[in-house]
Amino acid sequence: MPEAQSSWFDKIVDFFRRLFGGGDGKPPEPPTPTPTPPEETGRFIAVDAGHGGTDTGAINSTVGINEKTVTLAISQKLKTVLENRGHRVRLTRSDDTFVELTRRAEIANNAGVEIFVSIHCNSAETSTAVGIETYHHTNSANGRVLATKIHEAMIAAFPTHTNRGVKSANFVVLRETQMPACLVETEFISNNQQARFLQDPANQQKIANAIADGMAVYFR
Ligand SMILES: [Zn+2]
Repeated sequence: MPEAQSSWFDKIVDFFRRLFGGGDGKPPEPPTPTPTPPEETGRFIAVDAGHGGTDTGAINSTVGINEKTVTLAISQKLKTVLENRGHRVRLTRSDDTFVELTRRAEIANNAGVEIFVSIHCNSAETSTAVGIETYHHTNSANGRVLATKIHEAMIAAFPTHTNRGVKSANFVVLRETQMPACLVETEFISNNQQARFLQDPANQQKIANAIADGMAVYFR
């Protein structure tokens, strides 16, 4: 960026001018707002709603929801957010159907998407387990960057939730995809409070927005 270099001195002069005034007794002008960098557009992104059809994923019968319903709702909201931001989206499933794990990777590979994000809800034997964690494949450096950016955006959006960190795993969808990939464990559906959190469409929307924000940082 050659222009950044040439304006460096001007920026310093401008900074002191604003701090101390123009030297002619005028009060300092209010600082001009820093322009936000242009939003990345025109990316091609795979969104993978975990589970589906006969594979319900984890179930919370007390709250009355299952994982496959939550992951689809978040994925559809994420698709809309990304399309509104000028991206193209390939869903590995767009309704309540069963799709093999290897097929999900194949769909993304054949479509030629740039990144792959899988949406899941966590679950544990103990109902007290809570928090957000994001996975990348052990051997993918770019996957780790993608996972980190999305995880940071999730934690920024949900600061009161437990941060379980970015982790690596040998999940099929992460291993078999040929592009940077990550898997977001949005919260624990096995915890009743977090299951109700995941069930709320407003929270699903907030999760979708946060994941899209993380992608934007990754592409920047
Ligand atoms: Zn899952």
